[in-house]
Amino acid sequence: ANQLMIQAAKNSTASQFAAGIAHEIRNPMTAIKGFIQLIDKSKFDTPEYFDVINGEISRIEGILTELLSLAKPETDIFREANLIDLIYHVVILTKTQASIHNIAIEFDPYIENIPYYCDANKIKQVLINLIKNAIESMKNGGRIEVEITLVENMWNIIIADEGTGIPPEVLNNIGKPFVTTKESGTGLGMMVCLEILKQHNGKLTFNTGPNGTTSIIQLPFIK
Ligand code: ADP
Ligand code: MG
Repeated sequence: ANQLMIQAAKNSTASQFAAGIAHEIRNPMTAIKGFIQLIDKSKFDTPEYFDVINGEISRIEGILTELLSLAKPETDIFREANLIDLIYHVVILTKTQASIHNIAIEFDPYIENIPYYCDANKIKQVLINLIKNAIESMKNGGRIEVEITLVENMWNIIIADEGTGIPPEVLNNIGKPFVTTKESGTGLGMMVCLEILKQHNGKLTFNTGPNGTTSIIQLPFIK
């Protein structure tokens, strides 16, 4: 299996800039979306063009959402959270989407509480992005296993899927913006994960092959 460990993105200023632009684009986009919905499509010869427009608007919204999650919080919102609860929350959140695709997500932690000082919403975002990728890689259904273990002085949150694996040329560029193999992908999910993990002194590693991918989030153990 191929293995790759990627260090968090170095360029924080670029991230802030991207988030700022996304913020500026969001308001006009909301207006465009709203007014298009008010147009009486039946008066046009080609009402199907509106589906194309709406599809592309959704795509832009997806990009903006990813970029906005790069924004630094206004105030310092690192707080004590329970890593276990946080993972449960994301598992419950993604279960519906998974079951539509005949995928079961399993998480049976052997610990009940892991108090952890972090930006909980951002760590959730990392988990959501990784689980979403796992789901999207499993076209024929299957199982996704989520686990948390302490390895040396790092918490390892492991997401193991039974998908198609990450193609080598993608693996080499993963975390760079707009790297995607999906028709409606943004190619921003992994970049966002890296930026968030960087803010937490964390790491992201992939172990991948034709039988699936294991994505590993590493977060420093804090006493
Ligand atoms: P997107 O999901 O929008 O394509 P991401 O940054 O989340 O963008 O992922 C980039 C690419 O990495 C994906 O398009 C896919 O090719 C690959 N990838 C990431 N995670 C997995 C996975 N678990 N299994 C297979 N491929 C993956
Ligand atoms: Mg993704």
